[in-house]
Amino acid sequence: MNKIKGGCLCGKVAFEVVNAFEKLFFCSCDQCRQITGSAFASNLFVRVEGFSWLGGGADIVTYQVPGRDISKSFCQVCGSGVPWSSGDGSQMIVPAGSLSEEPDVSLRSRIFAAEQPLWVSKFEHVRAHEGFST
Ligand SMILES: [Zn+2]
Ligand SMILES: [Zn+2]
Repeated sequence: MNKIKGGCLCGKVAFEVVNAFEKLFFCSCDQCRQITGSAFASNLFVRVEGFSWLGGGADIVTYQVPGRDISKSFCQVCGSGVPWSSGDGSQMIVPAGSLSEEPDVSLRSRIFAAEQPLWVSKFEHVRAHEGFST
């Protein structure tokens, strides 16, 4: 099956994964907002059998949110979000932005929209620029 690659910004962490993701969730919960420092987390889910590390395992740090099934794994050199395994170990959760190619996704969903901050919705109708705005 077709595989795609991903990794962190500094290049220490690298992985490859079967390009057949079960779902892509944009999660706006308070924990995902805080842990990403952004409007929402964009996480892809794939069976663990289809995932393999190519390098950088020793540079990965994982933080587990106490009492919740939420983790954040990141490269300790550059801070980029990298994949981590689900609580039961059956799936890998892949931050969509860590991929270097376009993923094939079966299901897309936005979750915990009730926790999305107001400043996010104010961007829905603003003009998009191809590069920096002037
Ligand atoms: Zn890195
Ligand atoms: Zn969340």
